This record gives sequence, structure tokens and C-alpha cells, in this order.
Amino acid sequence: MSHVFARHSKTDLRRASIGKGTYLYDADGKEYFDGSGGAAVSCLGHGDPDVIAAIQAQVAQLAYAHTSFFTSEPAEELADRLVAEAPGALDKVYFVSGGSEAVEAALKLARQYFVEIGQPERRHFVARRQSYHGNTLGALATGGNVWRKQAFAPIMVETSLISPCYAYRGQDEGESAFDYGQRVANELEEELQRLGPETVIGFVAEPVVGATLGAVPPVEGYFKRIREICDQYGILLILDEVMCGMGRTGTLFAHEQEGITADIVTIAKGLGAGYQPIGAMMCTDSIHQAIAEGSGFFQHGHTYIGHPTACAAGNAVLKKLTGGLVQRCAVMGEKLQSALQSEFGQHPHIGDVRGRGLFRGLEIVEDRATKKPFDPAKGINKTIKQTAMSNGLACYPMGGTVDGRQGDHVLLAPPFILEDHHIDEIVTKLKTTFDVVL
Ligand code: PMP
Repeated sequence: MSHVFARHSKTDLRRASIGKGTYLYDADGKEYFDGSGGAAVSCLGHGDPDVIAAIQAQVAQLAYAHTSFFTSEPAEELADRLVAEAPGALDKVYFVSGGSEAVEAALKLARQYFVEIGQPERRHFVARRQSYHGNTLGALATGGNVWRKQAFAPIMVETSLISPCYAYRGQDEGESAFDYGQRVANELEEELQRLGPETVIGFVAEPVVGATLGAVPPVEGYFKRIREICDQYGILLILDEVMCGMGRTGTLFAHEQEGITADIVTIAKGLGAGYQPIGAMMCTDSIHQAIAEGSGFFQHGHTYIGHPTACAAGNAVLKKLTGGLVQRCAVMGEKLQSALQSEFGQHPHIGDVRGRGLFRGLEIVEDRATKKPFDPAKGINKTIKQTAMSNGLACYPMGGTVDGRQGDHVLLAPPFILEDHHIDEIVTKLKTTFDVVL
């Protein structure tokens, strides 16, 4: 018996042994196409020689130096690169080791900012139902995943939750997509009025919703309206790009496509591309300055922040992403969408095929006409996952089992290096899976 604390103790986990390009191989040599890049992590695929070389060189030169004594060249270089690429005035980068840490840092920075500028009465966050922002207590509190939260609710900060922008299930008949977007964005204003806007710190949202809804992009105008409301009441807009960022949606930052700028942005997964655990929180210079010129100390930190080896990996990854891979993701993403649409667009149990770039979701329904989800007790998502694995496809089926999630979906987030024939492979393996399960 293994002494590894398995998170999914009731799931029969296979032992991963080798990663090569877009494939993973288990200890028995079985091949799996990495259809979701883990959880939208492996954007470069596996075994990238340039990233491996960068890590090896850095680990040999300087593996680690504590940030209360030192900065490091890879951290400075990576911050410069990110700032050069980021939209708006995101000017400062705070490195952490993953997505939850990035969100936690963002929440604490936002609160400390208001304390520093003399608005300590600001204490609420508003986020959205059916959302996920990480597993640490603060990040978990801002998520709307009822199932993950329920055991911890008594020890968590309460967060206000408004509707997500989820046109497939939210848009009324006869209502335009734009009007729908304005309607759900205006829920923020209603919530601010209820709480008292002067007590609110920020609004937290994923530009394109990943794991909880399955690659759901916002409708046009939604985030512009959200930005307006935030500006009107002096509230910070915190965008969580942990999953949808780093090129996944076809632009380096997902919110570039919304024509808005954010006050704080979190990134992770694709930044380390699976080679090193790294995440980052980016913020505007004015937020940073309030702390720099105020107390001079951000009251948050971890031992591994700004880890030189992790930053070296991030530099190697980012060079590749900005050197053409993000554009490739956009192009291949369109091809994946058409292939999925033409195979499953009329499938009686696929209600919606959506997403951006190589971030695509298929919503699984019992009835296509009424959009009725499957009975959660059926655990369709689990059966899809297991069957797809037997068929040699690792994909990310979620949802369906609990309150707070409205349906089952399959999330696809393959590596950006995939070729046309890999798209055929994904579609064929999914079809074989759906033929058995649905
Ligand atoms: N935010 C979002 C949007 C995520 O999808 C995730 C991970 N699925 C996180 C935060 C947390 O990231 P991590 O698992 O690296 O802590």
C-alpha cells in the first residue's frame, strides 16, 4: 500500500511514468493523450528541452535564495516580461507557488491596500456563484462551489455571490446576449447597494470560467459594465486568470479580449507549464505604491516566493508562449472548436460546445431541447472520465453532483503544440467514450 496521501481515495489512480509531447504514459506503458493539459497546466506539452535546460542551468547556478534577503535575476527578468506583455497598468508582480497562493495574495493585498489608504471599513468581497478560485481558506471563501465549501463554511469569511455570466443557462428567451450580460453585471451594483458600496473591497471573477462551468466565455459588454460599476464605487476588479491565462484562450491574458483593464490579476498553471510550481499576482503601481509609501511591508508571504528555479522555468515558458505559441493556440483552438461542433453539435446529449483558444467545454445534458442536466446521482462526469481514460484520453469532466453546479461538462485544454491529427484523435476518443456513456 502506498503511503502517499491520495486526495481521491475512492478513485483508482494510474501511476504516471513518462510525459512526452502531448502524451502521458503510465507505469504499464499505456498511452494517454493529454486532452486537458492536466488542469489546463501543460501548455507546452511534456519534455520540452528548452524549459528543462533552463531549469537545469538555474538549479546548478542558484536554486534558491530567500526573498527577505535577496531578489534574483530570473525573478526580475520574469517580472519584466510579464509587465511588458500585460494589458493596462499591471506594473508589479508578486511571485508565489501556485494558483490558490496567487488568489490569497490578491485578496490580502486588496484588503491591505484599503487599510493603508485609510478605508478600513472596506471588508467585503463579491464573487460569483459556480466559481472556483482555489482551496486555501480565503480563496475558497471567494469561490461559489458549495460542495467544496460546506465543511469549512463555519470557519470562513462570508463572501457575497452574484450570478456568473453563463449565457447557455442564464439568457432568457428573446433577450439579446448583450442585454443578458448587462443584466447579470448589474447584479453587482444591486449587491453593492445591499452591502453598502463603501464596505466592499473588490469583485473577483475569472474572465473565462474554467473548472466550475467548463470554458464559459463572457458575453460582449459584460466585463465593460462590471468595470464601470467598480470604478463608480472605487472597488477593485480582481481577475483570476489562473486557469484561463497564459495564452490558453488565444491571447496571453484572457481579459485582453474584453477591452478592459484590471487592478489585480492572478496567474499560475500555464506559467510553470507543469515544469515548476509557480504562480503570480500582478497589480497596478498605484496599489503597490500605497503599501510601499505606507507601512512599507506587504503583510503576506511564503518561504518559496520568487523561487529562482521556478522563475527560470517561467521565463523559458513565457519566451515560447510569446514567440508564437499563443497565436498557435488561437488558430488550433478554432480548429478544435469546428471539429467538436461538427461531431457533437447535434448530439442529443451535448447541449453546448464553447470556449476560446484551446480552452473548450462541452456541456452534457439529458435533454438537448430543455437543457435539462443529468441527475447528479448518475455521476455521468465520473463515468466519462473513467471511460475516456480507458480509451487513452485524459480529459477533465466536472459538475453535476452537487448543489451550486448546474450541469455536467467536459473541459478540454490540450497543449498548444498539438497537431491537426491530434484534434482528430481527441474527437474520435471522445466519440468512443460518449457512445458508451451517453
Ligand atoms: N483559480 C482558478 C480559476 C483555478 O482554476 C484554480 C485551480 N483549478 C485555482 C485558482 C487554484 O490553483 P491551484 O490549484 O494552483 O492552487
